[in-house]
Amino acid sequence: MAERKMQVEVLRYDPDRDTEPRYQTYEVGCDPDWVVLDALTKIKDEIDDSLSFRWSCHMAVCGSCGMTVNGEPVLSCKTFIRDFPDKIKVEPLDNFPIERDLVVVMDDFIEKFEAVKPYIIPKEPRSIEQGTYLQTPAQLKAYKQYSMCINCLCCYAACPQVALNDDFIGPAALALAHRYNLDTRDVGRSAREDVVAAHEGVWECSFVGACSQVCPKDVDPAAAIQQSKIASTTDYFTSFITGGSK
Ligand code: SF4
Ligand code: SF4
Repeated sequence: MAERKMQVEVLRYDPDRDTEPRYQTYEVGCDPDWVVLDALTKIKDEIDDSLSFRWSCHMAVCGSCGMTVNGEPVLSCKTFIRDFPDKIKVEPLDNFPIERDLVVVMDDFIEKFEAVKPYIIPKEPRSIEQGTYLQTPAQLKAYKQYSMCINCLCCYAACPQVALNDDFIGPAALALAHRYNLDTRDVGRSAREDVVAAHEGVWECSFVGACSQVCPKDVDPAAAIQQSKIASTTDYFTSFITGGSK
């Protein structure tokens, strides 16, 4: 099939030169099977090498190429040009400061991510001789969906509570905390509880579900957060009944 001419309107912002973001439109000849990332790559390679955007794998695995296309947070490597009319608008993800053009500053997310201790905290360390912990298929299934996150940040861009409260830990980090709390090899739930069960943790979520709608890996962070709320509530009442100090 013939090449299709697309008007690609891109938000540009160079903090060293621009006082505020501006838009620049490029006319790009696109192959019919191209994704938005291909169009951006053509702009950078052939039209304007000053355009900045993140990408790495081009196969929806690395999570680097999250951006806003015609108002929706998406992976640009998974978003086909053919699904749009002759003009597309490409912007950085909402709810993050702009580093440059389509690249956002991720520092705040990384801090939140680290705060939930996103790793297995074992009951006791195992030596190499003891081998790895084994799990049944059912034990794996309990958390597998929540382990598929690629940190693309699309859910943070879609979440109305992230927009309202900078301190909200947010969907992906909370889903990841839930993933480890459900893992039979992990005993770190109490170590995560101060962050997960805080007001800026699961209780800040209003369960709109926008995070799950935009997630390109079907992680369903909204479900993880609601399950965490139930677990935290159960913990609270259990400690209340047993006289614990939660
Ligand atoms: S369900 Fe919670 S985390 Fe997901 S978008 Fe809504 S408020 Fe944000
Ligand atoms: S939960 Fe989904 S949308 Fe959010 S960062 Fe992970 S993969 Fe991306």
